[in-house]
Amino acid sequence: MTQVRRFWPLLTGMHRYEKTLSTRGRGDGVIIDAPILAYLIETANGRILYDVGCDYNKVNQPGLRQRYYENEDFPFGPPEMREEDRLASRLKQLGLSAVDIDVVFIGHLHFDHAGGLSCVAHADIHVHEKELAAATAQADGAYFVDDFSGAYQWRKQANEYEVTPGVRAIESPGHTAGHMSMYIELPKGRPIILAGDAADLQENLDDEVAPGLCWRDEEALALDSIRKLKSIAVDTGADLWPNHDMQFYQRCRQLPDFYS
Ligand SMILES: [Zn+2]
Repeated sequence: MTQVRRFWPLLTGMHRYEKTLSTRGRGDGVIIDAPILAYLIETANGRILYDVGCDYNKVNQPGLRQRYYENEDFPFGPPEMREEDRLASRLKQLGLSAVDIDVVFIGHLHFDHAGGLSCVAHADIHVHEKELAAATAQADGAYFVDDFSGAYQWRKQANEYEVTPGVRAIESPGHTAGHMSMYIELPKGRPIILAGDAADLQENLDDEVAPGLCWRDEEALALDSIRKLKSIAVDTGADLWPNHDMQFYQRCRQLPDFYS
């Protein structure tokens, strides 16, 4: 039986970029606003956070911002992160603080997903071993090694597994080497599958379009993952959530409201 009790999407920032970054080969010159999200899953066995957003200091301290975001090697431009977007602020809205998080599950280690790790350094950090290896080797320019090089309690995973009853890690490589999505079985409502960056936009799912950035340019691997997630959603009756889709996010229940 599922141990999940409640589920919240948390807005941790915004990013404006060319749509080609989300939809491979589509959207030249089209600029989109993307939410940067984390997700809180409250279970009978503790609280799980899927992703942790950006590092607030790298976004907002001028020296760091210049070094990480405003240089020619970084193709995406700086995201926006307000005080209220910080993990601690979002958790506070729910009467929680960082120490209330037991497990952090990182779908992948790009800057907009793993930058907040230092805020939850006490927790067990779940990540696919292939992801940690690729990130440490800086397989692409969206990994900031400093985000994940601290003394974290890594719980490296080699396969799909049950995080806790009702929460399952799903391997969905393609955007990155060891990308993981998550299946969440709610106590009452339909299950939710967090695609993570296997699908930034609803369009990636509907039209089966790969993300702009693919590990080793293996578009076919990314497309396999999109089809796999869609097929699990059909088999289980789950809602499949894209990760950086503003219109989708705006239709979601907003804090402190939750899914259960
Ligand atoms: Zn992302």
